[in-house]
Amino acid sequence: MEVRFWGVRGSIAVSGNKYTATGGNTPCVEILHEGARLILDGGTGLRGLGDSIGFVPIEANLLFTHVHWDHIQGVPFFTPAFNPNVKLTFIGTRRDSGSLRDALATQMRPPTFPITLDMLRAKLAFREIERDSPFQVGPFTVTPKDLNHPDGVLAYRIESGGRSVVFATDVEHGDKLDERLVELSDGADLLIHDAQYTVPEYRGEKGPSRRGWGHSAWNDAVEVGRRAGVGRLALYHHDPLRDDLGVAEIEAQARAILPHAFAAREGLSVGV
Ligand SMILES: [Zn+2]
Ligand SMILES: [Zn+2]
Repeated sequence: MEVRFWGVRGSIAVSGNKYTATGGNTPCVEILHEGARLILDGGTGLRGLGDSIGFVPIEANLLFTHVHWDHIQGVPFFTPAFNPNVKLTFIGTRRDSGSLRDALATQMRPPTFPITLDMLRAKLAFREIERDSPFQVGPFTVTPKDLNHPDGVLAYRIESGGRSVVFATDVEHGDKLDERLVELSDGADLLIHDAQYTVPEYRGEKGPSRRGWGHSAWNDAVEVGRRAGVGRLALYHHDPLRDDLGVAEIEAQARAILPHAFAAREGLSVGV
């Protein structure tokens, strides 16, 4: 599998000189295997992914962890969605607050956006998944796990060709590690894990307390990676406050504990 990072920033897109090495777009990761394409989340990074595909006939599956703004805002700007020769399948789970389709449709309607979901030219399909049942998407076997985040989030273990990637963005462990995620990540070749905060930030020793905001400190990511014995760990969902220097500092600290850890950066491609 090839894993490409199109958006690695959490919460809101950022731009400016101090962010150029890390990138400013919000979550979007592409996994390619045997000609199949699986897209994880549709943050602003999805726009660049769409540009790289261009206006050509494709079939693609877009798998959503949840529907917070930073994970869906790229959908209205995904060029292939405007091509009648494209087939897109949106995959997600239903919550008490509504379905994936409801969230995407709410995002795309006047007065906040002129183009509605129904006006997209691509053939759109919506697939609702059960939160605790593995399912198949082309060559990928996907195991979801429901974790702690405001309004819920799914982490996914994606397996194909004997290799495995775990995508665990937007997860809060709290005072002790969430064993469900340690189990899901067991022996994975690559774990992509929320690393939004430092411990002092999380505890409110530096700015407001971030308890209950739904995210991890980078140390949690390292601890899950260590406990699960993963092959590599990608620190992900960088805080908008975190400039390139801050990301590099966290990366160095994480590597001192787990030498195969690295900070996810926009444009990075990893063979798994
Ligand atoms: Zn997020
Ligand atoms: Zn979120």
